[in-house]
Amino acid sequence: MAQFIDGEVRAASTGERAWVCDPSTGDRVAEADLGGPADVDAAVAAAKRAYAEWSRATPSERSAALTKLAAELDARGAELAEVESRQAGKPIRLATEFDVPGTIDNTAFFAGAARHLDGLASAEYSPDHTSSIRREPVGVVGSVAPWNYPLQMAAWKILPAIAAGNTIVLKPAENTPLTSIMFAEATAAAGIPAGVINIVVGTGPVAGAALLRHRDVAMVSFTGSTRVGRTVLEAAATTAKRVHLELGGKAPFVVHDDADLEAAVHGAVAGSLINTGQDCTAAARAIVHRSRYVEFVAGVADLYAGVRLGATADPATDLGPLISMAHRERVASIVDRARAYARVVTGGAPPEGLDAGSYYLPTLIADVAPGQEAWTDEIFGPVLTVTAFDDDEEAIALANDTAYGLAASVWTRDVYRALQATARIQAGCVWVNDHIPIISEMPHGGVKQSGFGKDMSAYSFEDYTSVKHVMYDRTGVAAKPWHRTIFGIDE
Ligand code: NAD
Repeated sequence: MAQFIDGEVRAASTGERAWVCDPSTGDRVAEADLGGPADVDAAVAAAKRAYAEWSRATPSERSAALTKLAAELDARGAELAEVESRQAGKPIRLATEFDVPGTIDNTAFFAGAARHLDGLASAEYSPDHTSSIRREPVGVVGSVAPWNYPLQMAAWKILPAIAAGNTIVLKPAENTPLTSIMFAEATAAAGIPAGVINIVVGTGPVAGAALLRHRDVAMVSFTGSTRVGRTVLEAAATTAKRVHLELGGKAPFVVHDDADLEAAVHGAVAGSLINTGQDCTAAARAIVHRSRYVEFVAGVADLYAGVRLGATADPATDLGPLISMAHRERVASIVDRARAYARVVTGGAPPEGLDAGSYYLPTLIADVAPGQEAWTDEIFGPVLTVTAFDDDEEAIALANDTAYGLAASVWTRDVYRALQATARIQAGCVWVNDHIPIISEMPHGGVKQSGFGKDMSAYSFEDYTSVKHVMYDRTGVAAKPWHRTIFGIDE
């Protein structure tokens, strides 16, 4: 599997290759070329050339192309789901029912968004001028994406950018590049011109760094860890690029004493185990009223015990492996250290009989206190911590006791509590009596060290445009009244 540059699949200039492996078996899926700075240069040059025409396409032309793309993706849905499942170790049910339909729906959404350019009405905001707003694309966008939802992350980066008239070079994660290339091939089949979308497969420090520093890249959009996000900001500073960052999370899951406990327990299990917990919005810190604590812990432990780990191609499998053995070791080491300060109620080990894959049991750690490693660090695995609270103020303080601010949920039947929590919890999204659902019309993105900028929705489309003020003199007068502030006062 190679690079997708200027409308064609090409070998990388470096001659370097790496295997994409199925995390559930360790089997080799495909060999990926690893591109370097020369490939980034070629891709950015193609994007720059294509920009001249694509940025001038009418909204309806771009919309029509995206509508065709949605149909192309739909036609390839089963294949996309299968490849996504194999490269990322996702249960096929998740890939089929979430990743692929989500991507198609996003494409259809941006086909519509392309035709909605918002701005203030043209008007005479000064008596002597007519002002109007132009909403324009930014230029060549350089995007870097993570491995946890490779197809959706590629779509979240590419779609708003091209709907707005930008062209793009995307670097997917080097261990999960396959569906990004397939997505790009679908764009070619949909008639989107060569150079509008380019994919450079390569490692972060080589291809990623070259892309983020490229002088012809006007905007960088990055999804990944907060650690790498900081280097993105530094790289962007070299030419003052616009920056869009979707970083880590450590979502609180607040359960009040009046909550429907059965719903909260189901929500905690689904919210913490989605994508094997490798989800930036996953429920990570359950913060539970002391009066419901024992019941909650027992309920989650009970449902965790029934979760089926197994072959990712089996539609009955609920939970797939972690992305790699190395990542499993990291998750396991955090859980093992937690035994010294908290109570591992269930899990905390790989399952038996799935030794070739990087599987890890659903893990519940109770009695975790603020400041401890399992409370502060993003674990990015099937691990939920539980902490007790006594009153509403404490619940909100605990929810906000994190460097992150991506997502949160509150579980209560009390409308006033829900209103307080949704207003005061610092996060890009707060769910009430649910945790995880996303929707194309609504924004996804964080505050604090979870980054800034939005994915999906009209807000994301806006992030990929710049607003230009055009001001027309309507007096035809040479000596305009305002000139007196500068020169020519007689008295
Ligand atoms: P990561 O930061 O290690 O890697 C993300 C991407 O950055 C990869 O493509 C990688 O190759 C590239 N990269 C690494 N070093 C780089 C460098 N020096 N210069 C340029 N690029 C570089 O993250 P990951 O482990 O792939 O993904 C997991 C992280 O992503 C988690 O922290 C998760 O919360 C976050 N995430 C956030 C969102 C969101 O919307 N906020 C969504 C998904 C994942």
